[in-house]
Amino acid sequence: MITFFLVGLTVHVVFFLSIFDIYFTSPLVHGMTPLATSLPPPASRLVLMWLMDSGSIIESRGTWGVSHTRVPTESRPGHVALIAGFYEDVSAVAKGWKENPVEFDSVFNESRHTWSWGSPDILPMFAKGATGDHVYTHTYPAAEEDFASTDASRLDSWVFNQVNSFFESAKKDSSLNATLREDKNVFFLHLLGLDTNGHAHRPMSQEYLNNIGLVDAGVSELVSMIEDFFGNDGKTAYVFTSDHGMTNWGSHGAGHPSETLTPLVVWGAGVNSPVTVAEPQAFNDGFLKDWDLEQIRRVDVSQADIAPLMASLIGVNFPINSVGVLPLQYLNNSNHFKAESMYANAIQVLEQYKVKMIQKKETTISLLFTPYQ
Ligand SMILES: [Zn+2]
Repeated sequence: MITFFLVGLTVHVVFFLSIFDIYFTSPLVHGMTPLATSLPPPASRLVLMWLMDSGSIIESRGTWGVSHTRVPTESRPGHVALIAGFYEDVSAVAKGWKENPVEFDSVFNESRHTWSWGSPDILPMFAKGATGDHVYTHTYPAAEEDFASTDASRLDSWVFNQVNSFFESAKKDSSLNATLREDKNVFFLHLLGLDTNGHAHRPMSQEYLNNIGLVDAGVSELVSMIEDFFGNDGKTAYVFTSDHGMTNWGSHGAGHPSETLTPLVVWGAGVNSPVTVAEPQAFNDGFLKDWDLEQIRRVDVSQADIAPLMASLIGVNFPINSVGVLPLQYLNNSNHFKAESMYANAIQVLEQYKVKMIQKKETTISLLFTPYQ
């Protein structure tokens, strides 16, 4: 009886500990060589925005699709997938919200400069992980998040106003002006209002709909302002997406399609124009009909694919921890460029496998180590 009890206990302890070994150990590896194509990129700068947009860009000038997130559908793992290109392990989600328990590379880190505006809960995470001092954050003080307690859309007005005055100030500041005109720059607008309004009032509320209107108008004004600033040089790429969705009752975190399916609209330098399709597209989730977009090609991606897409558009290294696959159908570029980019992307993912294999080999008894064919 005692032997049986001890064996049972041992088995349970081993199982229990194995969970920590499997899920609470970061799968990320380090020491890979960063990779990008040597060909000139189509865009000099990238503007990255979070949340919903009107159909006019989809119909007239960009490529769109649904971006599929993984669970948990929370802000931190969503942002990591979008900007760093990998699905954050449970250990990182569990260990801290604002801190980086594990080091990782990101499109922001690879950029020449990134300016970001938005919530103090999200932005510092990417500035902290960046080597050097080239990722700048403009956040509202956490205590002042209350300024939006009656109307969360003020969080978004704050972002748009700040970006506006930033570019206004650059007109008078010649060194900032010159820095903004360099290539490989990223501007990131984190628009939290819709999330907050969705939690407080639910996504079908008037507050939420008004907030969509505000963001829609804000994006429109922002694009004109940026195009104006850069003299319509056709060198700006725009990426519009979301970290996660939300249920009708204002929650997220789980795996319901309303939480895991997010919009992706990309346009500007290096991005394909809308492609009209005659035959029905192979999506049976009903969105094409609901959104009246059956005739415009839809290109779905996995959320982590957006990181290599952004890297490719401005010609920076693919983030080294990224497992994203470059969605070629978004690119308006030569076959040569696409082939070189695919190749660099494949080698970059393979690098991680190689490093992981060496690590495994070093920590395994050589007799037991058999590499895959
Ligand atoms: Zn939320």
